[in-house]
Amino acid sequence: MSARENPLRAVAVIDSPQAGSGIAADLEACGFGSCLTYVSGEDDVRPLARASCDIVLACHPNPKVGPERVLELLCARADAPPVAVWAESFTDDEMVSFVKAGAHDCLRSGDTRRLAAAIERARSAAPDPPAPSPPTTATAAAELEDHHRALIEEIPALTYVCWADETRSVAYVSPQLLTMTGYSTRDWLAEPDIWVERLHPEDRDHVLSRYREACKTGSRFFSEYRLLDREGSIVWWRDEGRVMPGPDGKARFVRGFVLDVTEQKLAEESLRRMRFFDQLTGLPNRALMQLRLGSALAESKETGRPLALLILALDRFRDTVNTLGHHSGDEIVRDLAGRLADTIGDAERVARLRGDEFGVLLPDSDADFARNVGERVLKGFERPIMVERLPIEVTASVGIAVAPDHGDESEVLLRRADAAVQAARALGGGTCAVYSPEFDPHDPEHVALLGELRRAVEADDLVLHYQPKVDLRHKTVVGVEALLRWPHAKRGMVPPGDFIPLAERTGLMRPLTRLVLHKAAREAHQWERDGRAIPVAVNVSARSLHDPLILDDVAEALRTNDLDPTHLQIEITESAVMEDEARAAITLSGLTSKGVGISIDDFGTGFSSLRLLRRLPVSELKIDKSFVIGMAGETGEDTAIVRSTNDLGHNLGLTVVAEGVEDEWTLDLLSAFGCDLAQGYFIARPMPGADLAGWIAQSDWRMAES
Ligand code: C2E
Ligand code: MG
Ligand code: MG
Repeated sequence: MSARENPLRAVAVIDSPQAGSGIAADLEACGFGSCLTYVSGEDDVRPLARASCDIVLACHPNPKVGPERVLELLCARADAPPVAVWAESFTDDEMVSFVKAGAHDCLRSGDTRRLAAAIERARSAAPDPPAPSPPTTATAAAELEDHHRALIEEIPALTYVCWADETRSVAYVSPQLLTMTGYSTRDWLAEPDIWVERLHPEDRDHVLSRYREACKTGSRFFSEYRLLDREGSIVWWRDEGRVMPGPDGKARFVRGFVLDVTEQKLAEESLRRMRFFDQLTGLPNRALMQLRLGSALAESKETGRPLALLILALDRFRDTVNTLGHHSGDEIVRDLAGRLADTIGDAERVARLRGDEFGVLLPDSDADFARNVGERVLKGFERPIMVERLPIEVTASVGIAVAPDHGDESEVLLRRADAAVQAARALGGGTCAVYSPEFDPHDPEHVALLGELRRAVEADDLVLHYQPKVDLRHKTVVGVEALLRWPHAKRGMVPPGDFIPLAERTGLMRPLTRLVLHKAAREAHQWERDGRAIPVAVNVSARSLHDPLILDDVAEALRTNDLDPTHLQIEITESAVMEDEARAAITLSGLTSKGVGISIDDFGTGFSSLRLLRRLPVSELKIDKSFVIGMAGETGEDTAIVRSTNDLGHNLGLTVVAEGVEDEWTLDLLSAFGCDLAQGYFIARPMPGADLAGWIAQSDWRMAES
């Protein structure tokens, strides 16, 4: 309400009329027409105050009074309005430096959603205007009615009312229809079947059956589907309707609204491509290979037929790159990837696992057949590659592991193919090696290690370390993640990655999870009593998530340690959820009904869709550290993934956490994206619980108000 009674007062700092018209067009598109004043000199900027202006939009670049100067002039003053920087485009470094200089936001031309959000934030931070006097006359009521209708017709959503009978004909549809589909409201009202006809043929049946079901039961109608617009292009609609009964209690109308979610759907698809395909070669990446290996292994178990995994690593490739440069290195990798896919005959079975390493899945293949394929691949590599008219010779080594002889789990098979490739390399490269136990000296130790782990759990020798999680906007500590450690007499502090997979495969997981829950709850309760309530997040692995007793174990840990459930959070990986989605949904609902929060860990490494997240009672999403660490890399690929995942997480109403923040530049860039929380070595390494108070006392991060 206050927005209408109190129109926006925006000031643009520009040096050319073109820049001004760009800003004006964006404001217009957000529904703030003719509310803009232009200034272009320092003397006009200096007196700007919150009392007369809601937001300053500083255009970048501006040789006269650039955003840096505007920020300098205004940001130190308590009564100054917020300054957002507006530009056609920004580099990551520019965004970071503007945010560090105090910019309220960095807005790209055309990103009206972000502009609207920035305005809302700016205005909500401003003192409330005096309350208007209420309308007293019939004229005022009619005026309000007009505003009401105008509002319905201005919001970025289509609203409709249709008859809840078999004709489904439209009684009212708002004029947003024209921009969303190219059809006018008149076209729509004149043609009762038009909605059904324009539904995408693959979506039509399920949409109509949901609609009928809603009309029959009186329940809410909700569906996301594709519709063909006037030109025949696909638009994605999210349609949410309520069934309105008539005087006889039967469904009479469906009243609802539609959002155009085409952009989000396209972004999801391109994110999926980024997550599962290597950008340089177009081949599947390691994550997709692991998923495919998992299903191929399941199939091989069922049919009893062998499956070979082949890993191919380029020999001394680092030296080649150091000599010829990264660009030539990329060309070589692209060329060899093409040759490899040609020899295999099916690019879907080939993957780029990391820089100079490829994987190949060979279903129905024993060791001899795989060795044969490996040798053909190596032969294909013998022809030199022309790089800048120079013939370059590259050799490779191939390692092979076969299921079930060398293992029937993906982790084991990958590790053993890797051990084989190292052995082939040790022989001088350019050859194939099939796995043999002497390549993998760690394996026999596992049995001994398991015995020791069991004794350590019984003796309560394991400890928890805690890593702080911070809020980027408020600069506060909002919680900690509990990370398990095993202090071992000979091995030193054993990290969880070395023993949790072992415990997962044996019966040790439940005692281990119970132990972690109790320790974390006890410590968090102690912090609460010390007057410093710090919520704690506990990792729960796939095995424990699908254990029906997990709910009892969590309840018991909360009860015996008298911990407020909202101070406990459970982290689960997306791949753990995917193992049994239905059971996971039940467990997660059980946990949230107790008040415990759920976070999806390592997001981006599994295959879940965002649709899945929408269905689960999840409140937080943690972007996997591999992407966050990769932001410091040169390609910008990981930065794009982190940025899109952050945006999509926000669209789903989730808190987004970036883990693995190792340097200040990454931290600043994440703040500039609007990422909510961060965790990583740059902020703090995991530490014993007793050290936490000391760290908080000396760090730049304050405690959040509880
Ligand atoms: P996670 O839950 O994703 O935990 C984050 C991991 O990243 C931790 O490794 C942490 O020490 C590390 N890390 C944090 N900041 C940075 C950084 O800036 N750079 C880098 N390179 N790494 C960073 P850690 O402690 O070795 O734990 C590894 C994984 O083991 C955890 O990944 C979690 O999945 C699992 N885990 C840890 N504790 C438990 C537990 O109590 N129960 C279960 N089931 N799993 C656990
Ligand atoms: Mg975690
Ligand atoms: Mg993680």
